Amino acid sequence: LVPAGLAAGIAVAVAIMAFARRQMSVAAALRHGLAHHAFILAYQPIVDLRTGRCIGAEALLRMRRDSGELIGPDLFIPIAEQTGLITRMTERVFELVEQDAGHFLARHPDFHIALNISAADLRSASLLPSIDRLLQRTGARPANLIVEITERGFVDPATARRALAALRERGIAIAIDDFGTGYSSLSYLESLDVDLLKIDRSFIETIGTGAPTSQVVGHIIAMARTIGLRMIAEGIETREQAEFVRRQGVEYAQGWLFGKPVEFRTIEQLCAIEAAR
Ligand code: C2E
Ligand code: CA
Ligand code: CA
Ligand code: CA
Repeated sequence: LVPAGLAAGIAVAVAIMAFARRQMSVAAALRHGLAHHAFILAYQPIVDLRTGRCIGAEALLRMRRDSGELIGPDLFIPIAEQTGLITRMTERVFELVEQDAGHFLARHPDFHIALNISAADLRSASLLPSIDRLLQRTGARPANLIVEITERGFVDPATARRALAALRERGIAIAIDDFGTGYSSLSYLESLDVDLLKIDRSFIETIGTGAPTSQVVGHIIAMARTIGLRMIAEGIETREQAEFVRRQGVEYAQGWLFGKPVEFRTIEQLCAIEAAR
C-alpha cells in the first residue's frame, strides 16, 4: 500500500517528467526544423481604416512538419523562448522576409512588414546585424519595417530601452503588441518612445456585446490618442468592429475581415497597386 501523500507526489513527478519530455521533443523538432528549412512565413494584410488601402503585412511564423502539416507559432514560440532557440528562429525570420519580400520592399517604400520580436531578441547581439543585413541585401529602407514587441519584452526595461533606441535611430517603427494583456500602463509606454500600439483581439471581441468589459476598448483608444500613439486594431472580424474603431480614431486594422495570413505572393497582388501609388 502506498500512502496518499506519496502517491500524489509520484503523480506530480510523472506529470513533470512528461512535461519535460514533451518540451524536449518539441525543442528537438524545432532544431530539426531550423536545420531543414521547415519554417515559412504567412503574411496578414494591415489596412488603413481611413482609405481601406493595404499599407503592409505582419509576418507570422509556421513550421512545416515532414508530413506536410503546418504547426502554428502558439505551439512552438513559447518553447523556443524557454530553450533559447528563439534568437536563431528570429534570424531565420529575417532571412525569410528577405527571400519573400525583399524585391517588393525595395520597389515600394510605403509598404511595411511587421515582425514579431521576443524579449530575448532584444538582449541578443544578432538582432541589429540581422536587420542591417536584410536592408543591405534588399535595398529596403528602415521605414519599411515595423518591429512588434509584447509587454513581456519589457521585463528588463534597461535592455529594452537600449535595443528600442537603436532600432528607432535607424528609423524602424516600434509597435507594442497585444496591448492591454500585460501589466504596463499607458503612462509607462509614453516614457518608452514607441510609435504604434496594437490593440489586442480580446478587447476587439467585446465591441457591441454590451458586456461591462466592452467599455475598456474605448478608454484604451482615447488614452493612446492623448499620448499621440497611432494604433492598429487586431483581430477585426466584423464590419461593426471595424466601424467602431475607425470612428474612435484608430488608424489601422488587421483581421479576418480584411484578410487571413497568406503567402507573400498573394499579398503582393492584394497590395501592389495601393503601395505603388
Ligand atoms: P500575434 O502577434 O498577436 O499575431 C496575431 C495572431 O492572431 C495570429 O496568429 C493571427 O493569425 C491571428 N489573427 C489575425 N486576425 C485574426 C482574426 O480576425 N481572428 C482571429 N481569431 N485570429 C486572428 P498566429 O499566426 O497563430 O500567431 C500567434 C502568435 O505567435 C502571434 O500573435 C505572435 O505572438 C507569435 N508569433 C508569430 N510569428 C512569430 C515570430 O516570427 N516570432 C515571434 N517571436 N513570435 C511570433
Ligand atoms: Ca504581432
Ligand atoms: Ca498581437
Ligand atoms: Ca496575440
